[in-house]
Amino acid sequence: MNQPHDETRVVSTPDPIDFDALAARFRSLYDAEPDGLWAAPGRVNIIGEHTDYNGGFVLPIALAQHTVAAVRRRDDSVLRVASTSMDDGAVVTLNLTDIVEGGNYGWAAYVVGVGWAAAQRGLPVTGLDIALDSNVPVGAGLSSSAALSCVTARAWSDLLDWRLDDETVADLGRDAENKIAGAPTGLMDQLASVCGQEAHAMQIDTRAVTIEQLPFDLTGAGLALLVIDSRTEHSHADGEYAERRHSSQEAALRLGVRELRDVPLESLATTLDKLPPLLRRRARHVVTDSARVEQTARLLLSGDDLRRIGPLLNDSHASMRDDYEITVPSIDTLQEAAVAAGAHGARMTGGGFGGCVIALVDQGDAAAVADACVRAAEQAGHPTPAIFQAVASGGADRIR
Ligand code: ADP
Ligand code: MG
Repeated sequence: MNQPHDETRVVSTPDPIDFDALAARFRSLYDAEPDGLWAAPGRVNIIGEHTDYNGGFVLPIALAQHTVAAVRRRDDSVLRVASTSMDDGAVVTLNLTDIVEGGNYGWAAYVVGVGWAAAQRGLPVTGLDIALDSNVPVGAGLSSSAALSCVTARAWSDLLDWRLDDETVADLGRDAENKIAGAPTGLMDQLASVCGQEAHAMQIDTRAVTIEQLPFDLTGAGLALLVIDSRTEHSHADGEYAERRHSSQEAALRLGVRELRDVPLESLATTLDKLPPLLRRRARHVVTDSARVEQTARLLLSGDDLRRIGPLLNDSHASMRDDYEITVPSIDTLQEAAVAAGAHGARMTGGGFGGCVIALVDQGDAAAVADACVRAAEQAGHPTPAIFQAVASGGADRIR
């Protein structure tokens, strides 16, 4: 006989962050009061994968999972930072005047890199003391890195009164990631972390760097978005990512366009005929996935039934699997299991070769779909996935 589904068994809720405990840790580490507490969220991309470095569209939401920083301004150029997630919470001490591109600062690069980037822009920078806590899963493709760089950027900007717009705050985070941490990311992660709004998804035009906030009230529609972390990571993901970027550039060059964004959807088949088979498939993914973002955005704006996003999610997954070839068996297993168990649609999200699948489900089906994913992974001999419900939340902000 089937056991009744126990939602709490398979769908986890994020561990809450204890702000008082974080402030207390700050006091014990630095023997002083923090000037304030800031928080920045992780993000999950609803649709539009590998479109960002092709000038195309993406559609992320900010998550309810945050990195929280207790911060105090210093008068010198010293940065001290400690994270519960790293080095057993030990303090890392760096001097801002020593920071150079290509240096090796470990995880602290995402923090100190923000100060470096601000100095590059001619902003007045002083050091900080920082204590961090986070409930954003690290390395799962949910942008714990952007949560970290953006909470730092927001706090530094507020404390030193830099009066930056959101895009510039995000840009400081990206510079920290790209130039000091050495992680090649587009601007999506940081924009989502800085600009997120409750019950909204953001359509980002990655060429124009403009954001359109679109209503995305899942709860109101009786829906839930599951994030199913496969807990697998391909060891060659970095090299594969670089190869896809290169293929995209190569395809654009051969088609005589600046970026694949400039390939019109209408005449796609005839245009792509000019490419060799591999580049044809790569380009087809980029162009069609960016178009699927625009279709999804129109659907959200129209107030139509959100369930109609489902087929677009499935198409996007097929495109990543067959044309861009960035999925792996553990991911495909979860996507198929979610759809077979009644999800309206499901797709891998993030750069690929592991990471997470998202599934759009009726609220009443969330537990059954989650359960089916766990069972399918176990039957296939893959790691047991970690599953939570995504809630579209607000962006980086001061909380105390
Ligand atoms: P993702 O952004 O998908 O979680 P990344 O590989 O881009 O994965 O970023 C993960 C890295 O970011 C970690 O290895 C660590 O260096 C840094 N990081 C993220 N969150 C924290 C945190 N709370 N404390 C310290 N470092 C963190
Ligand atoms: Mg990241």
